[in-house]
Amino acid sequence: GLTSTFLSRSLVPTTSPRLRLQPRSAVPMTVVCMDKSRKEKVVVIMGATGSGKSRLSIDLATRFSGEIINSDKIQFYKGLEITTNQMSISERCGVPHHLLGLLPPDGGELTPSEYRSLASQSISEITARGKLPIIAGGSNSYIHALLVNRFDPLTHPFSSDTSISSDLRYECCFLWVDVAVPVLFEHLSKRVDQMMESGMFEELASFYNPIYAGSKNRTGIHKSIGIPEFDRYFILYPPERNHKVSEWDQARKAVYEEAVQEIRENTWLLAKKQIERINMLKSNGWEIQRLDATPSIGSWSREIWDKTVLAESVKIMNRFLVK
Ligand code: ATP
Repeated sequence: GLTSTFLSRSLVPTTSPRLRLQPRSAVPMTVVCMDKSRKEKVVVIMGATGSGKSRLSIDLATRFSGEIINSDKIQFYKGLEITTNQMSISERCGVPHHLLGLLPPDGGELTPSEYRSLASQSISEITARGKLPIIAGGSNSYIHALLVNRFDPLTHPFSSDTSISSDLRYECCFLWVDVAVPVLFEHLSKRVDQMMESGMFEELASFYNPIYAGSKNRTGIHKSIGIPEFDRYFILYPPERNHKVSEWDQARKAVYEEAVQEIRENTWLLAKKQIERINMLKSNGWEIQRLDATPSIGSWSREIWDKTVLAESVKIMNRFLVK
């Protein structure tokens, strides 16, 4: 688990967030505090890697005065921004992000229970500021841990022999950004190439540590797609001896290509697993609303996105917020 010193120093507020709840308009404070049946509202953006969750979270946060809580277990760490697809400051458009890029690479692994407690504190704080909490990220086991009323750290929600509870502790609006699998896979392959071109290889080279090479017991950021896949390459060609690509021989190019192909395949597997888990939650009574982002994904078009995914989400959100 996480070191408690890190948690107490950086993340856990010193006063109970409950004490900072502000009254909703025209409702006396005492009534709000007494009314235990009134759950906090949260928006949850789900979807496979590469489907457009981050984009939707920013679009909705800017329109509905929201703040974003990351629910990607790998993006919780500092470093490997290209490899883990972390949104840059300019892409965040001034929207506050929580639980993103915080933990040092060797800070241990955040358990679902720890995520549940940190993210619920963020929700209380955001709600107390009069803002809307928007949860966005691909780790469905974190999302599950955060939202269920009774969380059991000993059972994995997605193992086949357990049934998933739909008794949730927040009033949730679930938006699922979905892309038809063949289109998504093609898009993910291209994205891997783009990531490599924008410096993923150099980032992996400087992160490479022979101590972890070939290890079966990786934790946290050391499990990021890209790191295990490039082990063989860096064992054969240690980063300090990297020459210019133009000087690479055929054998070296082949080992590199193999690593990149493995990244593509593992990214597809991750996407498939994410879609499966979202379907499991949906079939266990979570009211997840699917938005088809297929038309906007291939050749990215702001116009198509705005008219389809964004317009539909805004409609759903308007209904959710007046309830
Ligand atoms: P499990 O319960 O099996 O741990 P999970 O839903 O809790 O699954 P995921 O978020 O699906 O966890 O992540 C599983 C794995 O997918 C990670 O360990 C990592 O290898 C890879 N992965 C997930 N997100 C990213 C990312 N942003 N960048 C790189 N790799 C990622």
